[in-house]
Amino acid sequence: MKRKQILPAAAVLLSIAAFALLMVRSAANITRLTAATSRTAATAVLIDPGHGGEDGGAVCGEVQEKQINLAVSRDLADLLTLCGYEVELTRDSDNSLSDDGETVRKRKNNDMKARLALYNASADRVVLSIHQNKFNAASSRGAQVFYSPNDGRSAALAERIRFAVTALLQPDNERECKKAGKEIFLLKNAEVPAVLVECGFISNPQERELLLKDAYQKQMALAVAAGFINFDNTDNRK
Ligand SMILES: [Zn+2]
Repeated sequence: MKRKQILPAAAVLLSIAAFALLMVRSAANITRLTAATSRTAATAVLIDPGHGGEDGGAVCGEVQEKQINLAVSRDLADLLTLCGYEVELTRDSDNSLSDDGETVRKRKNNDMKARLALYNASADRVVLSIHQNKFNAASSRGAQVFYSPNDGRSAALAERIRFAVTALLQPDNERECKKAGKEIFLLKNAEVPAVLVECGFISNPQERELLLKDAYQKQMALAVAAGFINFDNTDNRK
C-alpha cells in the first residue's frame, strides 16, 4: 500500500533538519543527497515492517518487536518519500498480510508468501526489511544487517547501511553484515536487492529503552535512509 498520510509541517521540518544535520556530520562518507532528490526516475523502495497482527515477533515483557518495526518503518518511509523516492510499505498498521489458514503456522506461511510476492512484484525495486533482535544474553546489543544472496547489490546495500548506522548511532558496533541462509525465507527467495536490518536487541534493557523512544526510532530511520541513499547513488548505478 502507498503512504498517503501527510506529516504535519513541523514534523517535516524537524525531519529535514535532523536529516540535514546527520548528513552534514558525516559528509565525508555519506553524501550526494542532492543527486537523490534531483533524479528523474526514482528508485522504488519497498519497506517491510516485520511481523504484525497475531505475530508479534520477538517479545520481551510488554514489548513486542512488531510495534518498533512499524514505527521505524513509517519514519523511514516518510524520509525516503521526502527525498523523492517512490515508497511502499508491506503494512502500515498492526496487521498480518494474510488471514488464510486454520493454524497459526499456516497463516504465518501465507503471510510470508504474500510478503515475498510483494518483494518480487517488480524487478526494479529495492527492499528494506525492518526487525528487532532478541537473545538469551541480555548483554547483546547493536544493529546487524543481513542481505539476500541472490542479487550482488544486496551485500553492498547492507554494507552502506551498516556503515551509516555505525557512523551515526553506534560507533562501538562491530557486527559484520551477514549473508542470509534459508532461515531467512524472504531474503533467501528475494529476486531483487534486499536487506533485513535488525535495529537492535529488545532483550538488552538499555537498548530496548532506546528502541522504544520516538527520537531514537527516527535516528535509526535516518541512518538506514542515509545508507540506502548512498547505495542508490553509487552501487545501484553501476
Ligand atoms: Zn523479527
